Amino acid sequence: MSIQNNLQAVKELIDNRALLVAVSKTKPNEDLMEAYNAGQRVFGENKVQELTTKYETLPKDIEWHMIGHLQSNKVKYIAPFVSLIHGVDSEKLLKTINKEGKKNNRKIPCLLQVHIAEEETKFGFTEEELLSMLSQELLSSLEYIELKGVMGMATYTNDTDQIKKEFATLKQVFDKLKSSVFASTDSFTEISMGMSGDYQLAIEEGSTMVRVGSSIFGARDYH
Ligand SMILES: *Cc1c(COP(=O)(O)O)cnc(C)c1O
Repeated sequence: MSIQNNLQAVKELIDNRALLVAVSKTKPNEDLMEAYNAGQRVFGENKVQELTTKYETLPKDIEWHMIGHLQSNKVKYIAPFVSLIHGVDSEKLLKTINKEGKKNNRKIPCLLQVHIAEEETKFGFTEEELLSMLSQELLSSLEYIELKGVMGMATYTNDTDQIKKEFATLKQVFDKLKSSVFASTDSFTEISMGMSGDYQLAIEEGSTMVRVGSSIFGARDYH
């Protein structure tokens, strides 16, 4: 199967129910261009250096999403152009993104990462942490951030009941925030959940944005 065919197959399964972020990490520009030429414009990367290099060398109408863990000291490299930062997982990172947004005179769209997996290694806030952090005072100080929703990663397991439960938890956290802290924020609309192995399940559980890599570009080679 070619990248173009894979992309078509994934899009048919999504059937316009969620935005497709094509996760192109580790893949060469030629692979991204094959997806681009088949109409894909939204790409996701998880490393700042790779994201920046691809931004500089590929067509300017691509929307670049940062989907990986982001360190505060690297925000400055992507602040001028990034379309969405999925994994905001600390107050410090929010404040740094806000500062870099100000320098670039733009509001940077972000998602709050929520810890839904069993694994300790995954990043993100708990619901309680979000509710206590998101004071009106903090929110009104973040003038250069547009908080658009939440993001989460399920446990790496074959147990679909568990994955489903974790996605349902993320949807509940979103609903809770939407009806309280963000009740008057029209742009708080996104739930980023679902990868190659579980995006159909994620869409059933309310995902608005899926991050699909290997089903489009093939398995990644990490050495
Ligand atoms: C790599 C990655 C994906 C895509 O994973 P696939 O299983 O290849 O679809 C999605 N989200 C995040 C955060 C990732 O790092």
